[in-house]
Amino acid sequence: MDSSKFRETSHEAIDYVISYLESLRSRKPRTDVTPGYMSQLVQDQAPDEGESWDKVKDDLDQVIMPGMTHWQSPQFHSFVPYRSTYPAIIGTILAAGFGTLGFTWSSASEVVLVTMMCARKQTIKRLRKSYPDCSDGQLLDKLVAYTSDQAHCSVTKAASMSMVRMHVLSTDAKGSLRGPALRKAIEKDRARGLVPFFVCATVGTTAVCASDNLTELGPICTEESLWFHLDAAFSGCATLLPECRYLIDGVEWATQHVNWKLQNWRHVWFSDESNFLISRYDRRRRVYRHRNERSATRCTSQALLHGCGSVIVWGAINHTRRSNLHCTTVVIDPYKWLGVPIGISAMWIQDSSLLTEPYRMGPAYLEEPAQTGDVHMPDFMFSLFSSHLKHWQIAIGRGFRPLTLWMLLRICGVNGLQNQLRKDIVLAHEFRKLVQQDRRFEIVGEVTVCVVCFRLKGSNSLNLALRERLRADGRLHLRTATFKGVVFLRFCVCSARSEIEDIRFAWDVVQKLSTAELENSII
Ligand code: PLP
Repeated sequence: MDSSKFRETSHEAIDYVISYLESLRSRKPRTDVTPGYMSQLVQDQAPDEGESWDKVKDDLDQVIMPGMTHWQSPQFHSFVPYRSTYPAIIGTILAAGFGTLGFTWSSASEVVLVTMMCARKQTIKRLRKSYPDCSDGQLLDKLVAYTSDQAHCSVTKAASMSMVRMHVLSTDAKGSLRGPALRKAIEKDRARGLVPFFVCATVGTTAVCASDNLTELGPICTEESLWFHLDAAFSGCATLLPECRYLIDGVEWATQHVNWKLQNWRHVWFSDESNFLISRYDRRRRVYRHRNERSATRCTSQALLHGCGSVIVWGAINHTRRSNLHCTTVVIDPYKWLGVPIGISAMWIQDSSLLTEPYRMGPAYLEEPAQTGDVHMPDFMFSLFSSHLKHWQIAIGRGFRPLTLWMLLRICGVNGLQNQLRKDIVLAHEFRKLVQQDRRFEIVGEVTVCVVCFRLKGSNSLNLALRERLRADGRLHLRTATFKGVVFLRFCVCSARSEIEDIRFAWDVVQKLSTAELENSII
């Protein structure tokens, strides 16, 4: 394809995308094809010669489109808002055009795995001083990490992959992990000769959007010198709104070395996923200054703002406590609600060397020239044209995905993003009110962001039957989840195109199908 053909075809492809997005309200969100439908429609072999856009477009319509689940549909209410926004689409096109290779985080699951592995390595190194005759395996056998029974499955998976014992602690009636439960578990484990080293708390659990009590857990992590990882993957996005900052009350325990307050996001420097410096650094505060600095003020500089999500966290920080906590990390996934394509995770870490050192490797083919000049930049800055971030993650390379986040910020602005989040939350509350007006239903948990958990009063099997009815009906995409053994429906305002009419439409469908199911259950 030459430049003129590319220009022509890409314009058509953009028109195709726009028409698709504009047609979503008239499409059922879920496909009704059966697995394997496509094998009848595609050729057995790839063509020897390239085909025309018109032919490819026909196949998009006839082969691909029938099998698509329409995640951007205003009737799609499952999971979290994985949104495709116009600015992010522009960013994706530009990123693909630039073809830059970045080196950084991929997802919330990878963040917890890598942080846990670094904490593990660091703890074993520390234990080695006291037990020089023990093997790494013997020391590893003593380690114990903690999370709650509401944490995302990626946390226990990370423990399993890094071969550490994970104690899953019970939450209270609201699904929140409380300090006394953690303290009791630590005491019990220490008495058994185990070595607690890592706690993963959640803000916005995947099932009911509950949050662990950071104000209780944080001090314990500090006292016990545990790595405190905060998984705010989805709900953390809401903290872009001042009125939702309460969701991360206690985050200061995960960001304690920070001794300054940052109120204006424009003064924050941060790296995006391909380590591209988005904003200029704050000269007065000199927040670029990186490790090897000792003073309290300079401690600040050790804080790594990794990705725009960190900005959201920063806005909430106003504490100046310091401690001997050995490391803390916070993860927020802009792709879970802010409207960038999947895969852009933002992580804040207190001391980046704790991630970059344990698994550092330096083959000659990835070597970089030494930094020169007054200001010592964090390594990842250089990976715009080098590969230092190889130390930060499992994979070496990544695409230039954060450009999409940058485009989104530039084109929508903070106000634009806040308006969208507020609209989603208002719509969720509209749905909640509709549920509460019908005495056959009850709300499960609290509506804090754009998720409403609700159920038909009655048995789990009744609610599962309702789910099946919804599935067979196909007009809505809605899933069930469980909380403390109770099955409920989880309604999320996923689409940026959702309007109040869509919410009323969804409720109307739920009500009618519930009536049918209740009548059926009486018979
Ligand atoms: N943490 C929470 C609270 C989640 O809800 C999810 C996914 O929904 C994850 C982590 C996993 O995120 P990722 O898909 O980015 O690995």
